[in-house]
Amino acid sequence: MRKNIISGLLASVFLLSSSCQTNPVTGKKDVMFMSESQEIALGKEADPQIVAEFGLYEDPKLQSFIKEKGQQMAKVSHRSNLNYEFKIVDSPVINAFAVPGGYVYFTRGIMAHFNNEAQFAGVLGHEIGHITARHSAQQQSKSILAQGGLLLGMILSPTVAQYGQEVSQGLGLLMLKYSRDAERESDKLGVEYSTKIGYDASEMADFFTTLQRKQEEGGQAIPSLLSSHPDPGDRYNTVHQLADAEQKKQNLTDPKVGRNSYLKMIDGIVYGEDPKQGFVENQVFYHPVLKFQFSIPTNWGYQNSPQQVQMGPKDGSAVMALTLAPGASLQEAAQQQLQNYGLQPVESKQVTVNGLPAIAVVADPQPQQQQQQQQQPLRTLTYFIQHGENIYSLMGITTAQNFNNYFQVFSGSMQSFKVLSDPEKLNRKPERISIVTVPKATTLAGALRSHNMPDARHNELAVLNGMQLSDQLPAGTLIKVVKK
Ligand SMILES: [Zn+2]
Repeated sequence: MRKNIISGLLASVFLLSSSCQTNPVTGKKDVMFMSESQEIALGKEADPQIVAEFGLYEDPKLQSFIKEKGQQMAKVSHRSNLNYEFKIVDSPVINAFAVPGGYVYFTRGIMAHFNNEAQFAGVLGHEIGHITARHSAQQQSKSILAQGGLLLGMILSPTVAQYGQEVSQGLGLLMLKYSRDAERESDKLGVEYSTKIGYDASEMADFFTTLQRKQEEGGQAIPSLLSSHPDPGDRYNTVHQLADAEQKKQNLTDPKVGRNSYLKMIDGIVYGEDPKQGFVENQVFYHPVLKFQFSIPTNWGYQNSPQQVQMGPKDGSAVMALTLAPGASLQEAAQQQLQNYGLQPVESKQVTVNGLPAIAVVADPQPQQQQQQQQQPLRTLTYFIQHGENIYSLMGITTAQNFNNYFQVFSGSMQSFKVLSDPEKLNRKPERISIVTVPKATTLAGALRSHNMPDARHNELAVLNGMQLSDQLPAGTLIKVVKK
């Protein structure tokens, strides 16, 4: 299934020889791990995988907005020769990331959190900056590999602990880590590029504040955009100073912010998890479209994407994933998947899981793979379960040593798989952002209350609006509220 993509990426990552090239941004000679054509090839291979992993967010006007602004900015960048692509992916995580070769992705989660076009443009410039300044292209591609490879990657190179940690923190995929210097340089380029297309780059600094507040709120950890910036206050001041200087330099006297136009554009955007992609409640995963449910082990973290649900304990000592299995029959599915993952069956039996036909298989990575890893041998338990047209695979992986301890945990979760029939779960709708006008002057808190937003969510909504609850809003101000 995914094997070819992964091994292709593997080849492009590990067969690279470093060479000396001129950096398009600094003009200096850099040691580059990739040639431009290698960067482009990597981007081309990664793009369909990223799109498959997240899905595109279906909103033509938002997609054409990012495309239009992205292309406009790419033209004035240091590498206007590349073929750029700009996409909004269907993920609630607040993130934006770039892949070598000219690929830039924003999540619907970050789109929901910007409060004007200028904030969006600043972050867009920052991400384009990572591409134009050729930041740690090798590190990026490894990260894609680590995240995209998932099960296969785990078996080939089982960094179980590290992987489990990321899963349990519930972070988005593609946790790219750049050096602090790279992030500073990208901030500078974000200021330069967004100023060049007429935006007020100081707004980017305000968006970093939103990210910081979001992180402090504790709901969601913020991936790459904040990861290498230990001092957000410093970053805030620096971006403001850079923005002022750049506006003077470019003689931009009336920089554009575009608050109302941006808010009107995102009116109705899905906010938070979209139940149609599956959702978790009280440690049970529900998929209303595919009509199944199963329990996630107690205290485990999880991560859901269109292709799989991954779960793991906080100490990273095991991992479990639900995927669709290939093949027309249970036997065929089991055989093909074990083969794809290079697993040898140790034991297998036919079982019934809440009335659904299934096969349970214990399997080990093939001996030569185990040796190559020079690590503790692994063991897997997989339930292949037939439900309607589909065959689902729930695979648990841990070390052979831990296997007996985890057997009950794995099989308990796997045996909880059943048909979802609760109409309340089947008909669950996502929350959406609704843009409303404040009819008369009041505080943000007052405005939220008049729109029946529960007090318990006021802080969350203040962050979403990039405001304080005590802020005075003149009549006619547009704000975000959330509605089903
Ligand atoms: Zn960055």
